[in-house]
Order: sequence, then C-alpha cells, then structure tokens
Amino acid sequence: MADELVREGEGGRPCKSCENPDRVLWSNGRWKLTPIRPSANPVGLFLETVEHIDFEDFDDDMAAEYGVITRHLEAAIRAVASVGRVHIHRFADGAAHFHVWFQGRPARQLELYGWGNNLWTQVLTPLDADVVGANHDQVIAAFVQSFDD
Ligand SMILES: [Zn+2]
Repeated sequence: MADELVREGEGGRPCKSCENPDRVLWSNGRWKLTPIRPSANPVGLFLETVEHIDFEDFDDDMAAEYGVITRHLEAAIRAVASVGRVHIHRFADGAAHFHVWFQGRPARQLELYGWGNNLWTQVLTPLDADVVGANHDQVIAAFVQSFDD
C-alpha cells in the first residue's frame, strides 16, 4: 500500500466523516447514512461503516448486514417519484470508512444514464438542497419502516 494515496482518516489525515457527526441521517451503531452534496441526482447517499474498516475486514455477519441494508436502501430510494433507477458504487479511494455511493438517478434524464452519472452529477447545476433534503427524509423514513414490514 506504500504507493497508494493516503485516504481521509489514515496516516494522521483528518476524516471529514468522523468530524461531522451532524451530517448523519441514520445510524445503527455499525453503519451510517450521510448525504452526498451537492448533486444533480434527486437522491445521493453514502452508506458508510461507523468504524474505519475496509470490505476485506468484514466478518460474515457484517457482510450479511451490508447486503440486507443495501436491499432495503435501494428499494427506499427507488420509491422516490423523481428517481428512475438506483446506481450503487464502491471506489474505496477517498476515506478509511468502507463507503458505498447510492445515487438515485433522475427518471428520464438521458444525460445522467449509466456510468457517466457519477461524473455529470458533480458538473451539472445541483438540484435545490431543499428538494434533495425532502427526498432524503422520505428515503430514511421508508428505509427505517421497511425493517418493520
Ligand atoms: Zn472517520
């Protein structure tokens, strides 16, 4: 790993995730959801581990919980009326927390289809923060409720 860039939370580098607990929209003590801002997508959420661990550090229970959370979160995002499909990405280059990008891609907006979504949503004019915030509130409520259904 000597040739890899030092990520946030490693080698004494500050960690924005740990330093901004007010950004956490939901947590169960092992996982947390935080918003991706700004974004041209109607929904942009990070699913992160609370601890600084990588995918290869998961035991079977953590891996299973990741799968179950992913299924519930994808459905909650897909239920937002302005979302066409949900893109799920893991890059692992930015921070010491295992984190996955959940992007609710806008319905019927062709320039944001497919792999280009991740680039274009950083370049295009962001959606209104109040609109995205209301979408996130809806997603979190549906996500939490889905475990009781
Ligand atoms: Zn951290």
